[in-house]
Amino acid sequence: MAKITNKIKIFLIELLWPIHCLNCGQEGYVLCSNCQKYIKKRQQLTCPSCGKLSIYGAVCPSCYNKTNIDGLIFYADYRQVLIKKLIGLWKYKYVKTAGELIIDLLTKDLESFVEDNKFLPFADQKEILIIPVPIHKNKYLKRGFNQSEIIANAVAKKFNWRVETSIIERVKNTNSQTKLDKDGRKQNVKNAFIVKDFSALKNKNVVLIDDVYTSGSTIDELARAIKKYTDEKVWAIVFAKQNFS
Ligand SMILES: [Zn+2]
Ligand SMILES: [Zn+2]
Repeated sequence: MAKITNKIKIFLIELLWPIHCLNCGQEGYVLCSNCQKYIKKRQQLTCPSCGKLSIYGAVCPSCYNKTNIDGLIFYADYRQVLIKKLIGLWKYKYVKTAGELIIDLLTKDLESFVEDNKFLPFADQKEILIIPVPIHKNKYLKRGFNQSEIIANAVAKKFNWRVETSIIERVKNTNSQTKLDKDGRKQNVKNAFIVKDFSALKNKNVVLIDDVYTSGSTIDELARAIKKYTDEKVWAIVFAKQNFS
């Protein structure tokens, strides 16, 4: 029932509230083709833990013990106003075309990694398993969708990777992380995830998908839960990452 109500809500928003370009106001686009050039793609990939330049986004040797993921690929710096607005429109105002643009930008960018075999989780020839960061069922009922799941499905479909959306559950309904510092965020998400079917992780390199990576505590905690059951690599792909200044 909640799902149907949400679908009606999204339909009505699209019907009653025509979209306008976030930058110039032109009607009919979430970001018109002319203004899309103002979105700046990342210049370089970095170690997700210390922010130092890192080829293909792999965690640097001095950070191996500081994070549970093995690398992170992101499309753009989250500090850009347009990026923040685009994500907010999708997640909180249910503007579907904002999500479609995000997916389009991200998947096109990933093409170069995959086609040139620069995608490091491929390096040891294991099958790739895509897992979206789960949201708590209460949040799912409220929003009607999990944006990470939508991105994950699109990425998996494009590259013919396997996606699992139900082997891990978010059991802790965490409050907003925005007012918490790094340690607070870590505590907030501690034990938030349980792996329900660990046999699915066997012999796979896992790639976690989310829309945003800020302190990294959520993805790190999810990777920690996964690595209790596997010694294989756990990477992450996000649309936007909050870079260090
Ligand atoms: Zn525009
Ligand atoms: Zn590092």
